Amino acid sequence: MSKLVQGYEVVIGFETHAQLSTHSKIFSRAPTAFGAEANTQACAVDMALPGTLPVMNIGAVERAIEFGLAINAHIAERSIFARKNYFYPDLPKGYQISQFEIPVVQGGEVSFFLEVGKETVRKTVRLERAHLEEDAGKSLHEDFIGQSGIDLNRAGTPLLEIVTQPDMRSSEEAVAYAKELHKIVTWIGICDGNMQEGSFRCDANVSVRKPGCELGTRREIKNLNSFKFMQQAIDYEVRWQIDQIEDGIAIQQATVLFDPDTGETRAMRTKEDAADYRYFPDPDLPPLVIGRDWVERVKGEMAELPRVMAERFVKDYALPEYDATQLTQSKAVAAYFEATAKACGQPKLASNWIMGEVSRRLNASEMAIEQAPVSAAQLAALIGRISDNTISNNAARQVFEGLWNKEGEVDAIIDAKGLKQMNDTGELEKIIDDVLAANPKNVEEFKAGNAKALNGLVGPIMKASKGKANPGQVNALLMKKLG
Ligand code: ADP
Ligand code: MG
Repeated sequence: MSKLVQGYEVVIGFETHAQLSTHSKIFSRAPTAFGAEANTQACAVDMALPGTLPVMNIGAVERAIEFGLAINAHIAERSIFARKNYFYPDLPKGYQISQFEIPVVQGGEVSFFLEVGKETVRKTVRLERAHLEEDAGKSLHEDFIGQSGIDLNRAGTPLLEIVTQPDMRSSEEAVAYAKELHKIVTWIGICDGNMQEGSFRCDANVSVRKPGCELGTRREIKNLNSFKFMQQAIDYEVRWQIDQIEDGIAIQQATVLFDPDTGETRAMRTKEDAADYRYFPDPDLPPLVIGRDWVERVKGEMAELPRVMAERFVKDYALPEYDATQLTQSKAVAAYFEATAKACGQPKLASNWIMGEVSRRLNASEMAIEQAPVSAAQLAALIGRISDNTISNNAARQVFEGLWNKEGEVDAIIDAKGLKQMNDTGELEKIIDDVLAANPKNVEEFKAGNAKALNGLVGPIMKASKGKANPGQVNALLMKKLG
């Protein structure tokens, strides 16, 4: 399935930092809310004052377990916290508490659909691990006491770092993976997913190689916080690496930043190796022990997962797998679909309308389905009027517009716009007779075997009926009259 770029295969692995939605920090009781005045949400532990000790936040562990269950991973019964040592002004302890050799979540996979040309293919990305760690503070250079300073509000915020295998083969696959992962963490509610506020940040490890060769040297693009930039950054990076290699310059492992203004990636530092961090188990924290009964309890309390719900949609509503996946993009979309399908009894039509007209209108006005002016009940009523032949599909689109613009309920709009199909055969037959009489040439050609001549008759009939004739009925009557 690899798509080559100038004869090179692209290889991408992701490291994503998902900020866990706990109210307090991972090792202290200070609040995690975003946007507070600098240093008002950092306690002695977050500031790393001597004599303080970290205490594990059980809510953060529980969220890690939920994530592991959601992606079918192994949840370690015993995992270890480690100190990752490095010096940086926003890290007063001089080390970050993370997990290294034994992470809490091991393995698992994320799979999603991808449009490749005209085809829809399923892609599965294997996860290597997900581990718990604390976030660092933030250096502020502007708007802060007239000089640079450190804001420690973010210090100690719980993160789950989710690491994939190098399984992605294009920027499109990478973005689709990131969107799917974003869907999973927000669906199960362990992360608010707010990318602008940094709650979901992705690092893309990118390398290129000639097909069949060993993995190339990777460069890591840090902190991609929008899906659009993600795609631009990877595409630029791939082209840059290929140009280097073609010029005979070897790629050096490095950490780079993407600049949205120039659309380019720029080296930030040569990449450290694990050895540079002098990892060792944190003596302040005991091993994290997770009993199977705890995992079972969390499992029992979790809401239906998107992929489980999608399977149910296939089974209960006889939907194609693709529809089921699209309709489980968010809980709100899924709920809207189920309400519509149940009310109209036509799941496939409901799916078509939601994936078609409804999402088109939502996209055009940049709205979420929660804000849709057309309720599930109204959409169901509209579908009901299509299936009982009151209106044509064309007319239904006009009714939908009316609903969207809050012009009233389905039947009132059908009346007001005069969209009822003509079900009176007598009236329709008269129109057909008139059109046949006025177009003798088409009639002759059709009788002589030119099936296309029929179009020249159907058009004027629909027009004369002001679009209210039922196309099926028109066809049937025409066939009868033309023998
Ligand atoms: P580190 O811990 O130094 O960041 P890892 O080996 O844990 O390195 O890998 C980090 C990420 O980089 C993983 O998502 C992995 O899949 C990806 N990766 C590793 N090697 C390559 C490569 N040659 N090309 C692209 N991605 C890679
Ligand atoms: Mg790593």
